[in-house]
Amino acid sequence: MEVIYKVAVLQNSLETKHKAKTIGFVPTMGALHMGHINLIEQSKKENELTICSIFVNKIQFNQPEDFTKYPRTLEADLALLKLYNCDIVFIPSHEEIYPAHLPLKTYHLGELEHILEGEFRPGHFQGVCNVVDRLLKLVNPSVLYLGIKDYQQCKVIDTMMKQEEFLSPILLRICETVREETGLALSSRNRRLSNAGLKNAVTIVQSLREAKQTIIKHPMGVHLVDIEHKYKNKLLSAGFESIDYFQLVDKDFNLLNVLSKQYPPVAILTAATIEGIRLIDNIEIQLNEY
Ligand code: AMP
Repeated sequence: MEVIYKVAVLQNSLETKHKAKTIGFVPTMGALHMGHINLIEQSKKENELTICSIFVNKIQFNQPEDFTKYPRTLEADLALLKLYNCDIVFIPSHEEIYPAHLPLKTYHLGELEHILEGEFRPGHFQGVCNVVDRLLKLVNPSVLYLGIKDYQQCKVIDTMMKQEEFLSPILLRICETVREETGLALSSRNRRLSNAGLKNAVTIVQSLREAKQTIIKHPMGVHLVDIEHKYKNKLLSAGFESIDYFQLVDKDFNLLNVLSKQYPPVAILTAATIEGIRLIDNIEIQLNEY
């Protein structure tokens, strides 16, 4: 496994040792778990070369404390990537990604930028787009691998990629959420939870699953405000301190206030804070289930 810290070294390696190979790219912020490894494995299956980046992108954090407290476990990350035969790990510094001569860009993301995660994390998605755009232009992958755990982020990056010009077309592959046996979605942030917090956090997926069943069973008979209140209260009772949203969206990412056949829901998304740690999760609803 090549461990590379500098853009120039990465580009040299790609041009000399790996020319013309199909490249699968997995961008991460480290503190790796099996959710990340799932993306690596998918990439390994589908490409000749797999590159993982580890970069805690300061400009996407809207709270400085969240950035400083973000778990950093580089040694363990490298061991895990080696175990799963990742080919190249790229670990750039802030200056490598954001050199002084390259101004940050503003992407046209429309409403997507201001709702749900965007509402509660102002500026977050512009930070995400800047880093992913730069990484894509450095790596020039054939396929970009993202996890649907970050549902809105997938939409945002898809929107950004449709606006940007890349050296060659990049396919976006969105992979399923990897969960603990309890159902809790794996997240680097889970490391900051106590055992009790981890146990209570499972309510987030239980709520999503229950809400989905209710909606499937009574497609026209439930009021979405009732669903929202019920599961916000359930999460509060389970020890969550605050719930930012518990929201259904349609395929165009419109926020749904009513259930209708005309705009069927495709997912329920939620964000809630427990022990000061903000967790997000979602569940998809297929058209044939509704
Ligand atoms: P992060 O390191 O949190 O920025 O995540 C890097 C990538 O891993 C993103 O595309 C995430 O959506 C994906 N990811 C994070 N957690 C999971 C999970 N539990 N299952 C699948 N993918 C995940």
